[in-house]
Amino acid sequence: MTSYDAIVLGVGGMGSATLYHLARRGYRVLGIEQFSLGHEMGSSHGVTRIIRLAYAEHPSYVPLLRRAYHLWREMEHTAGERLLFITGGLDIGAPEGEMVSGSLRSCLEHEIPHQMLDAAEISHRFPGYRLPAGMVGVYQSDGGFVLPERSIATHVMAAQSFGAEVHGCERVVEWCEIGAGIEVKTDRDTYRAGRLIITAGPWAAQAVPALRPLAVPERQVMIWVQPLRPERFAPDAFPIFNMEAQEGRYYGFPVYGVPGFKMGRFHHRGEHVDPNRMNRDCDREDEAILREGIVRYFPDANGPTLAMKTCLFTNSPDEHFILDTLPGVPQVSIAAGFSGHGFKFATVIGEIMADFALEGGCSRYDLGLFKLERFLS
Ligand SMILES: Cc1cc2nc3c(=O)[nH]c(=O)nc-3n(C[C@H](O)[C@H](O)[C@H](O)COP(=O)(O)OP(=O)(O)OC[C@H]3O[C@@H](n4cnc5c(N)ncnc54)[C@H](O)[C@@H]3O)c2cc1C
Repeated sequence: MTSYDAIVLGVGGMGSATLYHLARRGYRVLGIEQFSLGHEMGSSHGVTRIIRLAYAEHPSYVPLLRRAYHLWREMEHTAGERLLFITGGLDIGAPEGEMVSGSLRSCLEHEIPHQMLDAAEISHRFPGYRLPAGMVGVYQSDGGFVLPERSIATHVMAAQSFGAEVHGCERVVEWCEIGAGIEVKTDRDTYRAGRLIITAGPWAAQAVPALRPLAVPERQVMIWVQPLRPERFAPDAFPIFNMEAQEGRYYGFPVYGVPGFKMGRFHHRGEHVDPNRMNRDCDREDEAILREGIVRYFPDANGPTLAMKTCLFTNSPDEHFILDTLPGVPQVSIAAGFSGHGFKFATVIGEIMADFALEGGCSRYDLGLFKLERFLS
């Protein structure tokens, strides 16, 4: 039976980065992925993902974000291709709403340069936006997007260059403790390792049943529409955004990589799903939900629909990440519950999970917000 220092279960956004950081430290690692690498069944496809330094979700994320930006640039250098695009970013909403006040709080706490803009100033500077009077935005010049599919490919290839073994189209069906290590059975073979790192995305609860109420998969839909005024939605004219509107929380991107202005709405239809059985087709109701926001806030983008795709959030109860070792099983660590805002951190999550494996659960970062025990006590 082949034996490794560490096995990474799931080679998506987080697993690919974890493999890279383990391999680069000289670990003998195996990554196991149930589908073809770069597939569209999980959470890490759709060309672009927002990255931003101002962080309405909680100021504790900012030190991780600073490191993530650094590691994105480092991976660009390693891979010889661009993965991070800076467009500036807007956190939009009512002045007293969670989005704006949370974003502002993180900027003030971490001395992040920013500007408060009202609706008229936003439309003047970025004419793709047509916001009602009363809405404001925190503008932060470090906002932008990263490329999820290219991130997975570049991290896997860099990991392989350090000797990592990667198996696609192979599903982990079971794992168990064997002394201080672990044994992993797949639909092809059985492997042993000193450590197991579970980065299974929407399938996290299938790998660790205790996570069922803590890592809940939810169907999401992204839409790409043809802008009527394309120049207003180019990367140099249109900052990425998060918007707390009366209809819900929208997010969006300039046109990049594939045709169309891309937009989505958090908790799209509130559909909790089984990732093995969910409906991956998009319908007119999905389209109508997103079109409502386009008509209202981005009328110059309101051209024909070009594409729609489903994707999966994996929500924790407080929508903060779960980064921890499993209670009572220190050789198994888990990165899960990214709750729709994890991708920008993929680089630093890889580093953290490598720290967990190497340092027995310790990390150089303050990860108090992400501990499993917050749900178990
Ligand atoms: C529509 C949408 C928009 C988003 N927008 C943003 C954004 O703008 N910015 C941002 O930061 N984040 C965003 N996110 C969130 C971000 O994309 C996710 O947090 C991130 O992709 C999660 O990565 P992951 O590695 O946990 O999951 P995945 O990339 O899905 O990886 C998990 C992998 O594990 C594999 N796996 C599972 N079980 C097994 C098994 N038994 N055997 C073998 N392999 C297995 C799966 O096949 C999969 O490849 C968005 C998410 C969605 C859905």
